Amino acid sequence: MTIKKIGVIGAGTMGNGIAQAFAVSGLEVVMTDVADSALERGLATIGASLDRLIKKEKMTADEKAAALARIVTAKDLAAVADCDLIIEAATENLDLKLNIFAQLDGVAKPQAIIASNTSSISITKLAAATKRAERVIGMHFFNPVPMMALVELIRGLQTSDETYAAVEAVSKAVGKTPVQVRNSPGFVVNRMLCPMINEAIFALGEGLASAAEIDEAMKLGCNHPIGPLALCDLIGLDVELAVMQVLFEGFKDPKYRPAPLLVEMVEAGYLGRKTGKGFFDYAK
Ligand code: NAD
Repeated sequence: MTIKKIGVIGAGTMGNGIAQAFAVSGLEVVMTDVADSALERGLATIGASLDRLIKKEKMTADEKAAALARIVTAKDLAAVADCDLIIEAATENLDLKLNIFAQLDGVAKPQAIIASNTSSISITKLAAATKRAERVIGMHFFNPVPMMALVELIRGLQTSDETYAAVEAVSKAVGKTPVQVRNSPGFVVNRMLCPMINEAIFALGEGLASAAEIDEAMKLGCNHPIGPLALCDLIGLDVELAVMQVLFEGFKDPKYRPAPLLVEMVEAGYLGRKTGKGFFDYAK
């Protein structure tokens, strides 16, 4: 099956990035959201992102206009009825996503593939909310989507080889590098990355070294472009905690227990850059 028209559910951080990536590559996109304001902000974000590409001479004004012309927006989920692939990127909430999947199953054409960009919800569980479980898959993009090369393609227990092949092909066509992952808590990247950050927080809590020294050590000793604590501030301490809880609950293995300092900082409202304070201070 060839994928020519994409539906994107949710126009937030990830949804508008996904819409941009496909539209720039020449595919037709229908981007939906329940909120008018989110659709407006989503389109404005895409416009500003394309303007930056023009400034860097990576795109012409005509190409920008053509990409924007390939995106239509809608508040009604039924607007994705004729899409070949629908990528759900709505708020991370199980009941919300189960509801969206059941609705999409009703409106999407029978041969359409339904994907989710979820970071933590079981693709097998989302697939089971539809009558087309073999045509459900995870497409886990990374933020910012237009810049990041990776997409984790998550196979639920029911995902067919045909579905995987079609989604792999379209991922490559839009310039992403897919890796195939079995449905499992945290998939690959978060399974490795979040415990590493969590360990840095344990080390900080034990007074092993200061936050600045822990980050300096990992940057210079491991060639990481950013230290684990600065990265946690960027991701959001609440998001890091949520992923650790998913790993801890999913595997029931104490090696994934969230660092007590992480829990306490989230309780204090120190969530990182977005609140101006995390492991480092961003107030200025
Ligand atoms: P966000 O809050 O920026 O955007 C979510 C959007 O979904 C909002 O605009 C909201 O109005 C909309 N929405 C809510 N209910 C809806 C519905 N029923 N129909 C249509 N739209 C609806 O969130 P985000 O950061 O873009 O995350 C979206 C998904 O992507 C989540 O599943 C998240 O786990 C995943 N994800 C996020 C990141 C990240 O770095 N932010 C990375 C990878 C995956």
